[in-house]
Amino acid sequence: MTKTLHLAEIIISNNKEPIMGGGLLIVDSKIVLIGKKEDFGDLNSFQGKIIDHGKSLICPGFINLHTHLFYSSLNLIECPDGLFPWLEKLIDKTTQWSEKELKLSTEEGIKKAISTGTTYLVENTPSNLSAEMISRYPLKATIGLEIFSSDEKEAEKIFLQSVKEITQLNNHLNGQDKSCPYTTSRLEFTLSPHAPYNVSVSLWEKLMAWLKENNKPLLTHLEESPQEKIWWNEKSGPALKFWEKIKKLDPKLKYWKRYDSGIDFLNKNDLLNENIIATHLSQINNNDLNILKTHNIKLVHCPRSNYYLNNGTANLKLWNKLGFLWGIGTDSTASNNDLDLLNEARFAINQQSIIYNNQISAKEMFAAMTINAAKILGKDSEIGALQKGLSADFLIYDIKNKSGCTYQDPYHLLIFETNNSEDLKEVWINGNRAWLNAPILNKM
Ligand SMILES: [Zn+2]
Repeated sequence: MTKTLHLAEIIISNNKEPIMGGGLLIVDSKIVLIGKKEDFGDLNSFQGKIIDHGKSLICPGFINLHTHLFYSSLNLIECPDGLFPWLEKLIDKTTQWSEKELKLSTEEGIKKAISTGTTYLVENTPSNLSAEMISRYPLKATIGLEIFSSDEKEAEKIFLQSVKEITQLNNHLNGQDKSCPYTTSRLEFTLSPHAPYNVSVSLWEKLMAWLKENNKPLLTHLEESPQEKIWWNEKSGPALKFWEKIKKLDPKLKYWKRYDSGIDFLNKNDLLNENIIATHLSQINNNDLNILKTHNIKLVHCPRSNYYLNNGTANLKLWNKLGFLWGIGTDSTASNNDLDLLNEARFAINQQSIIYNNQISAKEMFAAMTINAAKILGKDSEIGALQKGLSADFLIYDIKNKSGCTYQDPYHLLIFETNNSEDLKEVWINGNRAWLNAPILNKM
């Protein structure tokens, strides 16, 4: 049994008010007590290790609800022409990648995520390679195997294949298979039908039923770009050109009727349920948003990716008004500058203020990156806050150079006064130090 008491100037627990001069007691991988320093008794007779982090701020690890780590060695692909021309460029850049390059790219993403305070992420990937790479690092993840298949006739085959693949991944990487050196129970596997326009009705039905039965989230992209609407309404535009180029257009023309939107397609085919975690919604109309609400669908906002691909931005004011549970994601570095959730949070707050005159507080945004994200994943009894019984997944920020007056509002201090590259000192996952920003010592 390992017992460690972490002391810090400020602790943000998420369920209570921030604690000034606090301690966090960890036994093995779990939190057993959080409180004021005094609550831990006479520290001279404390049985266990004490780490005094001094002028530091401790908070729960961040949860990135939407990434594609697979593309992490790419930098932002500039494409003001929108989603489908961007996808074309993405495919051009990556189709020739070898298995080794794909693995290295994923590894780069894992490091970028952990070193900016992400302890849990939701990965969308067409390949099991990223799952294998993530399993080698302390990071926790929900990994959705991305599915693309528009041909109705293929539905049964693709469904069986996909279920087989994630079952194998689960057995191999989640501790069932003793021959695998990277066994872990930090990963959850699920399926990710890429978007309504990329998966046939029959396949949607099968995936939906299976995920519901197995109580797993269904990850999908929804109402991301204006170009999707043109496709649904007119069966023309850049999407059509793109599918023609990659030879995926025929089944879409053969099987798919016209709809008002992707949500209209899902709704009319009875494909909406509360297992869905939908990302983007930057182009959703009010009617569709209300439909999603009646099905209790959880939403993910990726403001920088939407901005760089010229896809508009979600109206968080309306999301809040309707009572949606929402979190944030960075998407991949192919449509963003980094995988840093603090940068994403600041961008979101600023953008909401400019575009919708919507003032989101640092506290609210912090919840979206932690506790609310955990609720979306149905994991709030494990992660997202610092409280008794939860996993010891936390971040330590150096605040000694911050003005004392910023200590008054720790959420504001964290979101607006802190930079991961300068101030993040340590990342702990499951009670172990997963990352350390060690100063580089000059050799004598
Ligand atoms: Zn995405």
